[in-house]
Amino acid sequence: MTTRLTLRCHSGQNTWSLPYPTASLPLNAWYCHCSICRHVSGAPFVAHLGQLPISLCESTASPPATSRAYNTSSKGRRYFCSKCGTYLATSTPVGVKPEQWFACVGALELGSLKAQEVYKFSEHYDLASTVDGGFARWLDDGLPKWVAWGPEEFHFPTEPLTPARPTSGAKEALNGACHCGGVTLELLQP
Ligand SMILES: [Zn+2]
Ligand SMILES: [Zn+2]
Repeated sequence: MTTRLTLRCHSGQNTWSLPYPTASLPLNAWYCHCSICRHVSGAPFVAHLGQLPISLCESTASPPATSRAYNTSSKGRRYFCSKCGTYLATSTPVGVKPEQWFACVGALELGSLKAQEVYKFSEHYDLASTVDGGFARWLDDGLPKWVAWGPEEFHFPTEPLTPARPTSGAKEALNGACHCGGVTLELLQP
C-alpha cells in the first residue's frame, strides 16, 4: 500500500506528490540546525523527514519543472520554488553515494492525515554549526542533540564559544546573508 504525501510551496506553483510505502509511516523526522539549512530558509532550524532511497523520488515523483535545484554542498542538492523561494526538499547530488532524498516538514500538506501518523521527530542535528546551540536551547523536548550529522558525539554547548564580532566602528552589528552570498545585510545598533 502507498500513501501519497504532498509538498506545496507558498505560491502554489509547485506541488509535489510523493508516494511513500504506508508501512514506512510514521516517517523519521529530525531538526537540522546547520548553517546551510538556516541560510537557505531564513529560519533558525529546518525540520526534515523521510530519509529514503533517491529511486523513490526519481522514478515516481520527479521534481516539478517549476522548481529550481541548487547544490548547497558536495553532499546536498536542494529544491526551491522558482517563484516564491520555498525550500521543498533535499537530495544527494547526482553520482554521490549513498543516494538519498528527504522532504521539508514545513511544506507538507497533510490533508486528512494527522501529523503523528505521518512523522515522528527523533533528534536534533548540527548544533556545532550554530556556535552556541542556537534555537535548540529553547527546545526542551527531551530529544538527543548532536553536534554534527549522525550520532557521533553528544555535545551541547550552553555558552557561546566565540564572542560576537563587531564589523564596523564602535557599534556592534548583526550580519546576515543567504546561502550563496548573493544577498547580505547588516543591522547596526541604533
Ligand atoms: Zn512557490
Ligand atoms: Zn541542515
